[in-house]
Amino acid sequence: MRTILLAHVKRVVVKIGSGVISDDNGLDLEKIARICDDVHQLRQRGFEVVLVSSGSIAAGKGDLGIIGRPQTIPLKQAAGAIGQSRLMRAFKDSLHQYGRQAAQILLTRDDLANRRRYLNARNTLMTLLEYNVVPIINENDTVVVDELRFGDNDNLSSMVTNLVEAQLLVILSDVDGLYDRDPRHHADATLISEVERITPDIERMAGDEGSSLGTGGMTTKLKAAKRATLSGAGTAIINGKSPHSLLHLFDGHELGTYFLPARDPMAARKHWIAFTKKPRGKLFLDDGAFKAVAEKGKSLLPSGISRIEGGFERGDAVRLCNLEGHEFAKGVTNYSSSELTLIRGKKTRDIAPTLGYKYGDEIVHRDNLVLQT
Ligand code: GLU
Repeated sequence: MRTILLAHVKRVVVKIGSGVISDDNGLDLEKIARICDDVHQLRQRGFEVVLVSSGSIAAGKGDLGIIGRPQTIPLKQAAGAIGQSRLMRAFKDSLHQYGRQAAQILLTRDDLANRRRYLNARNTLMTLLEYNVVPIINENDTVVVDELRFGDNDNLSSMVTNLVEAQLLVILSDVDGLYDRDPRHHADATLISEVERITPDIERMAGDEGSSLGTGGMTTKLKAAKRATLSGAGTAIINGKSPHSLLHLFDGHELGTYFLPARDPMAARKHWIAFTKKPRGKLFLDDGAFKAVAEKGKSLLPSGISRIEGGFERGDAVRLCNLEGHEFAKGVTNYSSSELTLIRGKKTRDIAPTLGYKYGDEIVHRDNLVLQT
């Protein structure tokens, strides 16, 4: 990455894949030590660093006698429970050599989908950075149930990038970056060094097989890059297995693939609505309302809603669809599904007489609404 691109970077999120710091025998302490060395150097240069590290399952599965990938969720969770403390210990010991402290933060998707808990997590992270501590985040594997999972740490790292409003996300992977086709099957595949915008063509270049240790393949990395760039952060995918690649990136070496930040990034709160908050239902809009919201930048009023799907409360996120069911936006509703069944199709002046109260004219206010990109 050219150093000029680093000029605006103050805070960086570094995602470390399982394949980078572990092998089938468990954690590779030497690799962790090298990454911590780089992190120390970056801090010396004035960058704030937040780590998102995988590796707890890889670190714990050996104790359960598992070779290869644990096959069931309880086994993954048990391995994660054993390995997480080992993973933290490795980071803590390495960072300690430089007189640095590390802090463990375990998150579930539910924690970040709740606005108060999201802001609370943010405050904790900011306090740690202020006190020069290196936060090390992982998914709280032992407690999450399937529908509440981030799924993979690539996704988690993009949400953390938005959470701490970092200007750069670096994904340390066991591959060199994004190739125009799968390098495992095509000897002439070429590495793409810079991506200005993640188009469907770019998306097609990512296969979807991951390594045997981590969860995400290139597809999940691209999704993470898309989310991070939409929050205004540049994203680099580099090979974390080659020694000191993180530092080399900051020295200006053109490593891996660099995705430029979006030209028109979303505000942090809109990004949270679009990607972190879980949708609970759907509103189907008639043609007039669809055009008003999708093309004219208007809020959604009750008159344009022709159908409601799902049960939700005021403050929940809902998907907005046209009459054909095509989803085009997501927003936070001011009214619950039971209130909406009474006022849908009506004029705004009929809201109060129908319900006996009114929270506002808008069902979904423009400020709480994000069009799909
Ligand atoms: N949270 C899992 C772990 O620490 C890894 C998830 C992933 O690989 O994306 O092992």
